[in-house]
Formats: sequence, structure tokens, C-alpha cells
Amino acid sequence: MPDHRRPMSKRGRLKMAAWTLFGTLGCLCVSLTYNWIAFRDMAPEAMRQGLISATVLPILLATPLFFYLTLKLRELAIVNHRLNDLASHDSLTGCLNRRAFTTLVERRLAEDMLGKGSKGGALLVADADHFKSINDRFGHHQGDQALKAIGDAIRSVLRSSDVVGRLGGEEFGIHLPGADWATARMVGERVRVAVSRAGLPVGDLEHRLSVSVGCVVYSGQTSFRELFCAADQRLYAAKHHGRDRVEIAAAPSLAPELGDLIDAN
Ligand code: GH3
Ligand code: MG
Ligand code: MG
Repeated sequence: MPDHRRPMSKRGRLKMAAWTLFGTLGCLCVSLTYNWIAFRDMAPEAMRQGLISATVLPILLATPLFFYLTLKLRELAIVNHRLNDLASHDSLTGCLNRRAFTTLVERRLAEDMLGKGSKGGALLVADADHFKSINDRFGHHQGDQALKAIGDAIRSVLRSSDVVGRLGGEEFGIHLPGADWATARMVGERVRVAVSRAGLPVGDLEHRLSVSVGCVVYSGQTSFRELFCAADQRLYAAKHHGRDRVEIAAAPSLAPELGDLIDAN
């Protein structure tokens, strides 16, 4: 059932009633005022007739009109919301698409810069391992199911303030605002484990899925491009070191500050 055919919430009904009521009252006021000013010197009976029609006509015309207009505005708002959703989300996995994800992270970084002290955070790039072989062995449809399972698994371990986007193909970006080194590592590990537990049912068997994760922790001024390059380098290292693992680094601007911490981990 399309969204706009769904039963309206109590708040929606109240809003519509308020618009209809106040819209009609507004028309009534204008009509009565005009009538009184225009016909105040006329005979009392004519004035009375005039006031009656100045009351009845706005009620008869404005009430259904305002009701209809607010109904249409509501439908328009719902369709608009749905279009925004379609334009910003990947239809297969339900994650943000690349453009929406990049825009959101860039906006968060800009807000961080404008704020008093930077909150910092982490950017993770998770890439499915040997994904081509899933397509080759089980077909493209199963490959799509695997991508859905990976997207769901990633989302299941994130906080509400974290965002995940499908950057393209079998690669996902994850932004963890305010995360420090330990949190970023923990979440990266959780993502890895969640995907490895998700599995892809193929007939009676379950094909094991895995992702490699590149992670970069930042604080202070940085850009999406800088973070993405650093996380991508770590992803490359994770692939190189055997896949199904998390590799973490500090953003270039943070590297000296976190040097000791990196050694300790
Ligand atoms: P690696 O572990 O090095 O990342 O190997 P890989 O096989 O995952 O990487 P590669 O880049 O060789 O292959 C990625 C594959 O992902 C190839 C492409 O067909 C598949 N793929 C990309 N997007 C989709 C999609 O939307 N659906 C499906 N089913 N497959 C996709
Ligand atoms: Mg891959
Ligand atoms: Mg890839």
C-alpha cells in the first residue's frame, strides 16, 4: 500500500483539522470585516442578510477547500520524503549510497571544525573478501543476497549516530563520530565478527562471508578525501595480511599524537 494511503496518525489528523479550522476562520474574518465596512450604512435588514451570506459562504467554500488542500499537501510531503529516501539510499542494501554518505560525513567534519573543539571520530572501509568467487560459484542473485546480509550485519552492530554507506560494489563505508582509537578498533572488530556470523545460505549449506576492514582515527581538521585514502590504505594492508581482519591507523594529522597508542595496540 503506498504510504499516502496509510491511516493517518493522530497528530496528522489534528494538524489537518487545525489548518481547516483556522483557514476557514481566517476567511470568515475577512469576509465579515469586508461586509461590515462595505454595507454598514445600509438598512438593518440588508445588513443582516449581508452578514448571513458573509458567514455562510466562507464556511461552505473554505472548509472543503482547506481540507482538500491540507490533504494534498500531506500527500506531497510523503512523496517528497520517499523521493529523498530513494535518492539517498542504495536500493539493494538499504544503506546510504556513496553520494549521500560522502555528503553526510563531509558535513559532520565541517560542523566539527566550526565547533569549539573537534570531536574527532573514525572512518572505516569494509570490503567483502573474495566476493567475485561468490558470484562465480553461486550466481549474481546469491551475490546480491550476500551483499544484503553484509549490510544488515554491519548495521546491527552500530550505534544510532554511526552511519553506513555502500561506497560501490562490495565496499561499505562506516563513520563513527566521536570514536577514539579503542572504540574504533572495537567497532571494526564487531563488524568483522558480525559479518562472519551472518553467512549466506546456499541450499542446505551456509557459505561463510567475511570482510576486511581498513580504519582511520582522526581528531582535528581533516577532509573526507584524506580519511578515505588513509582507510583505503589500511584496507589494502588488511587484504595483504590475509583478509578477514581489521587494520587501523591514525589520520596523518593525528599520527604523532597517537604514536604511543598505536604501538601499544
Ligand atoms: P578481494 O577479497 O580482493 O576484495 O576480492 P573480490 O573478489 O571481493 O574483489 P574483486 O574486485 O575482484 O571483485 C568484486 C566483485 O564484486 C566483482 C563484482 O562482480 C562484484 N559485485 C560488485 N557489485 C555487485 C553487486 O551489486 N551484486 C553482485 N552480485 N556482485 C557485485
Ligand atoms: Mg572485495
Ligand atoms: Mg572492492
